[in-house]
Amino acid sequence: NPHLKSTAQLSTCSYCGVGCGVVVGKDKNNILSLKGDESHPSSKGMLCSKGMNLHYTVNDKSDRLLHPQMRYNKNMPLQKVSWDEALNRTAAVFKTFIDKYGPNSVAFYASGQCLTEEYYVINKLIKGFIGSNNIDTNSRLCMSSAVVGYKMTLGEDSVPVCYDDIELADCFYVTGANPAWCHPILWRRVEAHKAKNPNTKIIVVDPRATDSVAIADLHLQLNPGTDVVLNNAIGRLLIENGAIDTDFIANYAQGYEAYKESVFLKTLVEAAAICGLEPSEIRLAAKYIGEAKGFITMWTMGLNQSAVGTNKNLSLINLNLITGQIGKPGAGPFSLTGQPNAMGGREVGGLSNLLPAHRNLNNPLHRKEVQDFWGGKEINEKPGLTATEMMDALNDGSLKAIWILCTNPLTSLPNARLADAALKKAKFVVVQEISNKPETLAYADVILPAAGWAEKEGTMTNSERRITYLPKIVDAPGEALPDAEIICRFAQKMNYPGFDYKNAEEIFIEHTKLTANTNIDITGLNYSILKKERSVQWPYKKGKSVNRLFEDKIFYTPSKKAIIHPVDDTLTSELPNSDFPFILTTGRIRDQWHTRSKTGKVNKLNQHIKDAFLEIHPLDAALLGINENDVALIKSRRGEVMVKAKITSSVKTGVVFLPMHWGKILGSDLNRANNITSDQLDPISKEPDFKYCAVSVEIY
Ligand code: SF4
Repeated sequence: NPHLKSTAQLSTCSYCGVGCGVVVGKDKNNILSLKGDESHPSSKGMLCSKGMNLHYTVNDKSDRLLHPQMRYNKNMPLQKVSWDEALNRTAAVFKTFIDKYGPNSVAFYASGQCLTEEYYVINKLIKGFIGSNNIDTNSRLCMSSAVVGYKMTLGEDSVPVCYDDIELADCFYVTGANPAWCHPILWRRVEAHKAKNPNTKIIVVDPRATDSVAIADLHLQLNPGTDVVLNNAIGRLLIENGAIDTDFIANYAQGYEAYKESVFLKTLVEAAAICGLEPSEIRLAAKYIGEAKGFITMWTMGLNQSAVGTNKNLSLINLNLITGQIGKPGAGPFSLTGQPNAMGGREVGGLSNLLPAHRNLNNPLHRKEVQDFWGGKEINEKPGLTATEMMDALNDGSLKAIWILCTNPLTSLPNARLADAALKKAKFVVVQEISNKPETLAYADVILPAAGWAEKEGTMTNSERRITYLPKIVDAPGEALPDAEIICRFAQKMNYPGFDYKNAEEIFIEHTKLTANTNIDITGLNYSILKKERSVQWPYKKGKSVNRLFEDKIFYTPSKKAIIHPVDDTLTSELPNSDFPFILTTGRIRDQWHTRSKTGKVNKLNQHIKDAFLEIHPLDAALLGINENDVALIKSRRGEVMVKAKITSSVKTGVVFLPMHWGKILGSDLNRANNITSDQLDPISKEPDFKYCAVSVEIY
């Protein structure tokens, strides 16, 4: 493409956490074109189907919100207003609620797709000046169990590995993930490594036979929810086989004896029966892991989105710790981030229980440091509302106003009809969005049009702690503004000091200063360095990235040792019964992203799979009299879904699968998987149980 050469700018794909580099060109009509960036260290020029078509989502302006809109009461239609009118009224309403009901009567619900600078200013606004911790993002639905897993074992939310470890590993344990579809470019590297080194062992653990199984040496098709039992059984076998690292356990870890006792509570035969596996399969997995020189565990939503998500994470990371497979080339636990900048958000403290630079809200010194730096109000020690708790609080009336940006909760939250009732009850809803499609807009009192990818500048951090700069390449349409600018204009309307940044870089520099002397120190980093270096990995010390953590075996815990936890294997999810005999699990498809507000615009991507569907095993389908493409009615205690059946032995009997992407279409919400998913939460990470609930299935 000729104009790619002359006007090309380097940026980053804004879909998944792999964070592939892109080269973006622009013609004289401001139409973008795009290709993979060979200079990008994470992706080396490769892009998947979603990334290759990213520019179409910017070029197609047909669904874009162009002006602020507002209504004075719920019975009036929305009308076009100026930015000043929209923000003045929003500030007046927020002030009224804060004065009358206290700062916890308002909340912000943001996204793992926000840029780091955007997260930073929202977090500063609500925690530092409004005086509430009611800021959560859809990363709560995605990675919060992994965050807790890392903190409890390594002392901090720190991914130890880098992508270059892939080519140095000889055993991968991929669990609760389908990277062939959901993290494709990372998986291409695993596939290429396996092709060059056929002795590399790949174990895939998944109740479904996904495309990731194609290159697996062993597929452990376990019963949903039995991950802790399986991981503990493997731990026991590693101990019995003498395949543990006694030096690492003695010198760099604590908690081994209690762990050992806990994994010996079940025999291999008992564990295999619970998991629905053969003992020989678990033995083979333990053999591969025990023989590995470099062992990487990879996981994502199948472990995180669970009522026992924290326990699943701990039981997995334990396998790296007892084998000493961490802090060395080709080894370590490696959470695959779902969203492009969930990592950046966590770095600036963008969840209801975090503070910037991985500081802890429950630490008075940390609160004081941040408070002094911002010069605002005393930071509240009580964690704020998490994503689903915000909906509960709207329903019980304690939360009055919610500001939703860059996310589409009516499609993505579990038990969506409860969220629908909550937003109907809300006294005041602000929706900051790029598209006129999301269901949430129907509840808005104020709509604020936002700039999208390539229409604003800022930074993101991918799954390997790699920070990249994303330039503004074209103007946003109409009056749409960058998200950070909208938040800062609002903060100024509230008369809060410290939000008069001249540009996004000033926000970034302020963020870097708060990282000084922390484990994620990036002081000194700026946009010029990022443009020159293409990307850096945190911590960034004396002008050098650190690509792998814990090579010195010093961990971020108080004892400086990694902590091996005994893990209870009880499953607390909603279990099947005679009324709801099937287990429902949910997930993604290859060519759609989240709630389809961007990928749904691209014809090429819609060709792969056009509509929502139900996967059901042939034996279950036969018993229910369901044939391929029959419309199936799937019910849970919370609602129902009606979609065509796809009969496949890739799911186990007794298990059905729905994709998570579809929401309300043409007034019908019956495609929406989240009508029926469970909003039960992991008690520590507060991540919902999207991957397990009891449903019935019948032919419609
Ligand atoms: Fe974008 Fe992820 Fe695909 Fe890379 S793998 S091109 S980051 S969607």
